Amino acid sequence: MSRVEPQKVLVADDDAINRQVLAELLKPEYTVLLAKNGEQALERASRHMPDLVLLDVVMPDMDGYEVLRRLRADPHTAQMAVIFVSGLDRPEDEANGLKMGAADYIAKPINATVVMARVALHLQLVRQRRMLERLANVDGLTELANRRRFDELYAIEWQRARQNGWPLSVALLDIDAFKQYNDHYGHPAGDRALRAVARAAREAMRAPGDLAARYGGEELVLLLPDTDALQARRLVEDLGAAVTALALPHAASTVAPVLTASAGGATLLPGSMETASDLFQAADDHLYRAKQAGRNRVAWRAAT
Ligand code: GH3
Ligand code: MG
Ligand code: MG
Repeated sequence: MSRVEPQKVLVADDDAINRQVLAELLKPEYTVLLAKNGEQALERASRHMPDLVLLDVVMPDMDGYEVLRRLRADPHTAQMAVIFVSGLDRPEDEANGLKMGAADYIAKPINATVVMARVALHLQLVRQRRMLERLANVDGLTELANRRRFDELYAIEWQRARQNGWPLSVALLDIDAFKQYNDHYGHPAGDRALRAVARAAREAMRAPGDLAARYGGEELVLLLPDTDALQARRLVEDLGAAVTALALPHAASTVAPVLTASAGGATLLPGSMETASDLFQAADDHLYRAKQAGRNRVAWRAAT
């Protein structure tokens, strides 16, 4: 069992007493971060990624509404749960805050029990949302991103590569003679092998934007933004070598005495007219070529 980290709550208020009251209240249960103005709130929010923000509405320079607007505008913090804590207690103030996307609205003067109850409720909702996101995006067996998540990120990276004139590399990696592996060692052993290959793929990723996902069955897809054909091919060759180096015996394989994988890849060149599905198809075609050429190898589309 992994120990559960306390959740992080950011308290942003220009009034030192208010900050202290909330901090004292929350400290026994949560990790508390403090900000004394809007600017600091944004900086702490993006740096520490708190699970919840208690945000004062009326602050000089940048008010809470503006802080919330900017949090929402940044993809990194757009989902962050925010509760307004405000001395403005007219129903329209509250309605306005909620309309702007706050999760809740607490009127000052605060009541300790109510604040704690609402904070606990919203942190619980945050946990549940993360769990659902995880279920939607992560493959349960390998813990890699799933195909749904890959499709989503592929569309995004495709656009970014196009806009910025970057190369984009895609590779498909498929375990060799995996049916025989299952037949010979049993399905649970097959699952363990697949997890080991997935771990090797995850470890082969270099840049924060690199992604290894489970495309389906025993086939993984690698998405390598801003990576040219030479770099990408080398990375995938290294991954192939890493799979072999796992040294999982495969007595039923005609390829090698250990488990191996084949991969095919292609790189989008800046200015090319091809579509995202053309690029993916090219990687798939080259996987087929790698298989045809004897497996346990990488085939990459030549730069044209
Ligand atoms: P090739 O070298 O041409 O890739 O042959 P292969 O046997 O690997 O390919 P094939 O497509 O014939 O078989 C894929 C096998 O992968 C069959 C399937 O049972 C197995 N497989 C797919 N997903 C899983 C999984 O999650 N766990 C296990 N244990 N096996 C899986
Ligand atoms: Mg204030
Ligand atoms: Mg296979």
